[in-house]
Amino acid sequence: MDKSNSKFPLWPQWDKEDVDIVTGVIKSGKWWAGSPANHCGEHFWEFQKEFAEFCEVKHAFAVTNGTHALEIALQALDIGLGNEVIVPDMTFFASASCVVSVNAVPIFAEIDRETFNIDDKKIETLITERTKAIITVHLGGMPAHMGRICEIAKKHDLFVIEDSAHAQGSRYMGKRMGTWGDIGTFSFQASKVLTSGEGGAVITNNDDLAHKIYSIIDCGRKEGKRSYDHFTYGSNYRLSELCCALLRSQLKKFPKQHAQRNRNAQYLRKRLNEIEGIMCQKREKHVQECANYVFPFVFEPDKFGNISKQQFYDYLNNNGIPTDDTYPPLHGLKCFKNIKLRKGIDYSSANWGGKKSDDVNFPVTSEVSSRLIELPQELLLSDQSQLDYVVETIKNLQQSFIS
Ligand SMILES: *Cc1c(COP(=O)(O)O)cnc(C)c1O
Repeated sequence: MDKSNSKFPLWPQWDKEDVDIVTGVIKSGKWWAGSPANHCGEHFWEFQKEFAEFCEVKHAFAVTNGTHALEIALQALDIGLGNEVIVPDMTFFASASCVVSVNAVPIFAEIDRETFNIDDKKIETLITERTKAIITVHLGGMPAHMGRICEIAKKHDLFVIEDSAHAQGSRYMGKRMGTWGDIGTFSFQASKVLTSGEGGAVITNNDDLAHKIYSIIDCGRKEGKRSYDHFTYGSNYRLSELCCALLRSQLKKFPKQHAQRNRNAQYLRKRLNEIEGIMCQKREKHVQECANYVFPFVFEPDKFGNISKQQFYDYLNNNGIPTDDTYPPLHGLKCFKNIKLRKGIDYSSANWGGKKSDDVNFPVTSEVSSRLIELPQELLLSDQSQLDYVVETIKNLQQSFIS
């Protein structure tokens, strides 16, 4: 829907501080980070420090986007030809395309009915001798069961990558998301809760991995070495100085927005769950903070006159309530169903492709997805009366089928 006339807050949000810091970069003439031996722009290096502090992690790298962040993580862990990586079936394309990018094979795991995250109880059935890693996603910022997932990984000697594109600021059992696994990745794309339009980050507590990541991002260079010394294969994934400047000023505003989203999400969850036939994404007691990138809930059609998901969406939009589209399950995407992927790679061991991609083989994800509605994060920056309006609007919809 067109959100420009919405009574609800818009996203992104910016003020004079954002304009000033970006203008400052332009006027300084220092438009790029510089190579390791001669740091040029300050914001790139400072943002990396500040983001590491924010994530409570040793190393953070600012990169071009969240898709690249995942590709870098897989490269740093030497995942490639002949390997399989387990990925939740309901996430953005990048969580799986990164695996394809390194010539490995993604294997799709069903999601949990209540949290909508990867179902840790189904992971072990997908592990083979080719499995090298598990990618977890914290859908809408809601932490996956990282304790159990890390245990499974340890038992089978697998790496864990946390695609934390939705989870800036999420915290579970005392730890920030992105710090549970070997490597965490983030996106700062325009819709995300911390954004510079495009951008991403890679974090790790492992010093050896940090050195590898550095070289992958910066043309195979090494910290402190000369610019034209290239030690390994690497590419250029450095984030622009302009984006890093903007991220620094956005990060200052983040805690207040984050607190408001958490408060409002708890309120909205409580009120929506009171409606028969609405079940909001479960927030377990171990979740201390949730980024709330989206606010997902499922509806039971038979409590709403058996309307379709599209009709539910249209009704909300027609009443001025902004929504986000949900991700179609990965297993059914044309590229996987028709195996239009990398040349020369054998995808026959995959649990998708052709008939294997049929919804019957992914019953839980398919079923949840068909009844899933998502509200965008900026709706949670509203005041309580606007949240009450959302609740009343949904109650009215239900009422219209009863009377
Ligand atoms: C947004 C997103 C990404 C990719 O981020 P980009 O910065 O858009 O490349 C990866 N994973 C998930 C789950 C995302 O939502």
